[in-house]
Amino acid sequence: MSEHPIPDNAGANLFLADPGFDPLLRRYLPEALHAHLRPHLERLGALAGGRLDELAGTADRNPPVLEQRSRSGLDRQRILKHPAYVELERVAYADYGLAALSHRGGVLGWPTPMPPAAKYALTYLFVQAEFGLCCPVSMTDSLTRTLRRYGAPELLARYLPALTSLDFDELCQGAMFMTEQGAGSDVGATATRARQDEQGNWRLEGDKWFCSNPDAGLAMVLARADGAVAGTRGLSLFLLPRVLADGSPNHYRIVRLKDKLGTRSMASGEIRMEGAIAYLVGDPGRGFLQMTDMINNSRLSNGVRAAGLMRRALTEALFIARNRQAFGQRLVDLPLMKRQLAKMMVWTEQARSFVFQTAGALQRADAGDEAARRLVRILTPLLKFRACRDARKVTGDAMEVRGGCGYIEEWSDARVLRDAHLGSIWEGTSNIVALDVMRAIRREDSLPALDAYVTGLLGEAQLAPELQRTFSAAWRRAAEFALHAAGRGNEMLARQAASALYHTVSAAALAAESNTPDTGRRLLLAQMVLRHRVLPRDPLAEAQADVEPLEALLAEAPMDRSALPRLI
Ligand SMILES: Cc1cc2nc3c(=O)[nH]c(=O)nc-3n(C[C@H](O)[C@H](O)[C@H](O)COP(=O)(O)OP(=O)(O)OC[C@H]3O[C@@H](n4cnc5c(N)ncnc54)[C@H](O)[C@@H]3O)c2cc1C
Repeated sequence: MSEHPIPDNAGANLFLADPGFDPLLRRYLPEALHAHLRPHLERLGALAGGRLDELAGTADRNPPVLEQRSRSGLDRQRILKHPAYVELERVAYADYGLAALSHRGGVLGWPTPMPPAAKYALTYLFVQAEFGLCCPVSMTDSLTRTLRRYGAPELLARYLPALTSLDFDELCQGAMFMTEQGAGSDVGATATRARQDEQGNWRLEGDKWFCSNPDAGLAMVLARADGAVAGTRGLSLFLLPRVLADGSPNHYRIVRLKDKLGTRSMASGEIRMEGAIAYLVGDPGRGFLQMTDMINNSRLSNGVRAAGLMRRALTEALFIARNRQAFGQRLVDLPLMKRQLAKMMVWTEQARSFVFQTAGALQRADAGDEAARRLVRILTPLLKFRACRDARKVTGDAMEVRGGCGYIEEWSDARVLRDAHLGSIWEGTSNIVALDVMRAIRREDSLPALDAYVTGLLGEAQLAPELQRTFSAAWRRAAEFALHAAGRGNEMLARQAASALYHTVSAAALAAESNTPDTGRRLLLAQMVLRHRVLPRDPLAEAQADVEPLEALLAEAPMDRSALPRLI
C-alpha cells in the first residue's frame, strides 16, 4: 500500500498485473509458442503500462492535422501525425508485427505465421494502452487477409510484401472506405460509381463519409459498376492505391478530418474520389460478400479491443481499490465496492473467454472445418455486440472507482471511456450486429454448430451433475429463444436473444476453462454469469451476495474449484 493518499498505477506491468491471463494463454496457445511468446508478452505488458500509455495520452491530446499544401505551394495533401502516434505505430507494426503476424513468419522471431489466439493475446495487451491505432492495424491485417483470399496474383505480388513489412519505412497500411452519407448500415444504398476507361482501368467517382486512416497506402472500397443492379448484389470490391504506379497521387482528396469524441490519436476523414484508379478484387458481383470477410475480421478485432479495454479498466480499478483508503478502510474491503468490482470482473472475464473461443474457431475454420466456419460466423457478431456494449459500462464504472480523479484527463479513464463508446458504433452498430446474429441463425444454420460446441464445452467442464443440469438448461432456453427471435417478424427480440446467447456461451466457456488447478476460480465466474445475467432472481431476496466469496475472487489468486460454493 502506497503512503500517498492518491494511488497511481503508472508504470505497472499490465501483463503481470493480470494474474489470470497467463494460465489462460497456456490453455489456448500451443506449448512451444506460449513459451516463446511469454517474454514478449511480459515486455509488452511493461510497455503498455508505461511508455505506450504515456504516448497514447500525448497522441490523444494532439490529434492529427490535415495539411492541404506544402510550404512551397504544391497541392500535396498529407496528414501530420504527432510523433507520439508515430512511435506507437512503430511499436505496433514493426516491433510486434501485429498486422503481419497472421500472414508471414519471422515476427518476434517465430518462423511461421502465428494462430489468431497469439495475435489477439498481443492485441489485448497493446489496446490497454492505445485503442485508436488498433483500428488501422486491424484494417491492415484484414485488408491483407481479404486480398490474399480474393485478389489476383499480380495484385498480391505487388502489394503483399509492403503490407506485411516489418520495416516501418517500407510498410503500406490498409483502410476500408465503405460508409457514405446515404449508406452506412444500409450498405446496399452505396452510390459510388465504378466505370472502365478506354485503357480498361477502373475509375471510381463518389464520396466516402467515414474513412479511418484516410492516408493509408491501400484501401478496400465498395462501388457500383455502371449498369449493375441496385442493392448489395450490384456492388464490386476495389483496391484503391494512394499512389499510382508512376509515383503520382491517385485521383482522390481527403476533404477534411473528423473531430471525434474518442480515437482522437488516429485520423478519420472524408474522401472524395474523382476518377480514382482502382483494381477490381475478385468477382464483380460478389463485392459485398467479399467485403463481409474483411468486416467480420474487423468485428472480431473490435470484440478483442473491447475485452482489452475492460481489462485495463479493471486493472486500474482493482489497484485503486486496494490502495485507496476511505473511512479507515481500503476501498476493496467495503461491501458495496466489492460488489461493484466483482460485477466488472465478471463482465471482463466473459469477454476474455469469448475472445479465445472465437480465435480457436477461426483457426479451425480457416483450416477448412465447416462446422467451425458456421460457429465463427455467429461467435463473431455475438462478441462484437455484447463485449462492446459491456465495455461502455465497465470503463464508466472504473472511472467512478477512481472518484473525482477518474473524471480528470490526466488519468487514463476518460480516454478509455471515450474510446470504448466507439466499439458499439463502427463496424456495425449494436442493432445491426444483433440482427447479423439472427441472420447467421436463419441463413447459415449456425445455431446447431453452436449447440454442439456448447455441449462439448459443458462436457469438458466436468461439472457435478446438478450444476451441469443448470448450465445445460440455461443454454437450451437461450438457444430456443434465439431461434424464435430469428423467425420472421420477431426482429425486436434480436438484442435480447444475442445477449442470452453470449451469456450462456461465455458461462460454458468459463466453466470449461476451470478444469485446471490454476484456473479453478473461473467456475465461480461462470456461475456468477448465470446468476446475475441469465437466471431469474428476486432482487429483494435477502443477502444475495453473502454466499459469493468476493474477497477471494477480487484477490485474483488461484481458487480450489472443489471448495467453491454453489451459487445457482
Ligand atoms: C470514428 C469513426 C470512424 C469510422 N471509420 C470508418 C471507416 O474507416 N470506414 C467505413 O466504411 N466506415 C467508418 N465509420 C462509419 C461507421 O461504420 C458507421 O457510422 C456505422 O456503420 C453506422 O452507419 P451510419 O453512421 O450511417 O448510421 P445509420 O446507418 O444511419 O444508423 C443510425 C441508427 O439507426 C440504426 N439502424 C439502422 N438500421 C437499422 C435497422 N435495420 N434496425 C434497427 N436500427 C437500425 C443504427 O443502429 C443507428 O443507431 C466510422 C465511424 C466513426 C464514428
